[in-house]
Amino acid sequence: MSNKTHHEFQEKIRLLFATFVKELPNRMDEIEGQWNKLQGEWNVQTIQELHRAVYNLADSGKVFGFAKLGMEARGLEQILKSFMQQEKSADVVQSKEIQQRIQELKQTWAEQGAKLTNDSVPAVIDEDIFLSSESSSSLIFVVNDDVEAGQELALQLRYYGYEVEVFNHLDKFCTEIKNTPNAIVLMDIEFPEDKMGGIHVMKEVQQEMAQPVRVIFIASHDELMCRLEAVRAGSVAYITKPINSTELIDQLDLITASQVQESFRVLIVDDNPTVLFYHAAILERADMTVKAISDPMKIMDTLLEFNPDLILMDLYMPACNGIELTQVIRQMDGFSSTPIVYLASENDFNTQPEAMRLRGDDFLVKPIEPEQLVASVTSHVTQTRSLRSMMVHDGLTGLLNHSAIKDEFVREVVRSTRLNSPLSFAMVDIDFFKKINDTYGQAAGDRVIKGLSRLLKQRLRETDIVGRYGGEEFAVILNDTDAISAAKVIDEIRNVFSRLLHLSQDDEFSVSFSCGIADLAHFSDATSLSEAAEKALYQAKQRGRNKVVVNAGD
Ligand code: GH3
Ligand code: MG
Ligand code: MG
Repeated sequence: MSNKTHHEFQEKIRLLFATFVKELPNRMDEIEGQWNKLQGEWNVQTIQELHRAVYNLADSGKVFGFAKLGMEARGLEQILKSFMQQEKSADVVQSKEIQQRIQELKQTWAEQGAKLTNDSVPAVIDEDIFLSSESSSSLIFVVNDDVEAGQELALQLRYYGYEVEVFNHLDKFCTEIKNTPNAIVLMDIEFPEDKMGGIHVMKEVQQEMAQPVRVIFIASHDELMCRLEAVRAGSVAYITKPINSTELIDQLDLITASQVQESFRVLIVDDNPTVLFYHAAILERADMTVKAISDPMKIMDTLLEFNPDLILMDLYMPACNGIELTQVIRQMDGFSSTPIVYLASENDFNTQPEAMRLRGDDFLVKPIEPEQLVASVTSHVTQTRSLRSMMVHDGLTGLLNHSAIKDEFVREVVRSTRLNSPLSFAMVDIDFFKKINDTYGQAAGDRVIKGLSRLLKQRLRETDIVGRYGGEEFAVILNDTDAISAAKVIDEIRNVFSRLLHLSQDDEFSVSFSCGIADLAHFSDATSLSEAAEKALYQAKQRGRNKVVVNAGD
């Protein structure tokens, strides 16, 4: 764990706590002052302000572990609320009770506050909840007593950009994994000395590690007992031989994907600054990007500029409440499906059904356990991101689908023209693919398509954009690249791809692709660029396939 982030986080919480404690006597005086003012003259605005002050005191007190103070403030808040609604002053008996409760509140604080020392900090955060986001690695340990099988698997994985180490002996693996706990382990289950040797060794290893090692077991049979033992040894996946390398790559991508995801953007709207910044600190500590606003009336600009993945919305705010604000947001372009999670205090709970009906996505009750806050935000953002991504991505390959890559292409052409920077467009088409399907079956064909898409993504730069243009046809947009450089890059990929081995029921085979490329220096708009690339692709096919051809105009 990074000590710096840990330290910064603790400092933030300490500062919030110190500020809260320091300001508390003033807040108590303000509360008493407002009550005295109401005794002189009953006024709707003053009772509202008083109620809000006590309400926020209850929330803040609970956040920092002052349970008694929080509870008493909550009780007083409930009484004040009933007056707020009836718009008439309290009678003598009621006044006396309120007066007494304010005194009790002050008394409670006098007792609790006196116990505080200079470095009292709330022990509210269990740092363990932030650990999971910090491991990152694309290093694979292949453990197999069969030297040849281990090397073969390593070779395929390296083609896809993974760094691989092979171990043929369990002892050596056990020593190494302790030095490199982030490695993903591909463990053969069966060893000559022990039919479940792989599982037994992983169980031992897991016990000695601070965090679980991510392990995929490779089994000869598919049996429940074996799967069960694998789960008990901490497996993240279980695959059976013969190993289907595209499926394995998918698994590995899935396991490593969460680590390269763009950080979640969360907007928090809460009029209570203590609670607002406390929640912000927790989410930032969990590696999210947070915008915190305490004035709900400022939400419009922030929404457009920040484009949050999720909004945490306080339910009870002055000027407008969270439900009204949600309705406003839902009616804005582009925000009709942004997840909104309400933050409420215990006694707002009777509005839950109402809140849900108004298209809130979740309802959290303050004080929220940091763990619950992080979990709720994570699950909603993950879900929404995956839904959005399904709309623009192709199901088989995960690449941009036809219409998405076309949209992207038009945008990129406009951008590169404006910046006067080079741009290449490449069309890639698998050779004799019909024959592959006919000979090895549709499923094998699908795996080839996935394999190529994986290779393209892996080998191209982050800034290059890849899409599935049609069945076995791909489109690549290469920014800041002229056609000659683009051809070099794609030709290397062509070379690797033609040497990959694909697996069918009982056969191994290889496949090639052809590619046509054109660039913005020779063709000035999206339509003529794609036509030119198409033409070059046709020529590559004509000249014998397994080739990259550049169209440099006439
Ligand atoms: P060429 O070298 O000239 O490109 O020959 P080809 O056989 O690859 O070209 P053709 O366009 O005639 O055939 C493409 C085949 O790809 C036809 C279609 O059945 C198959 N195909 C299209 N989409 C998919 C898919 O999603 N999965 C599988 N398995 N096959 C597909
Ligand atoms: Mg075709
Ligand atoms: Mg083809």
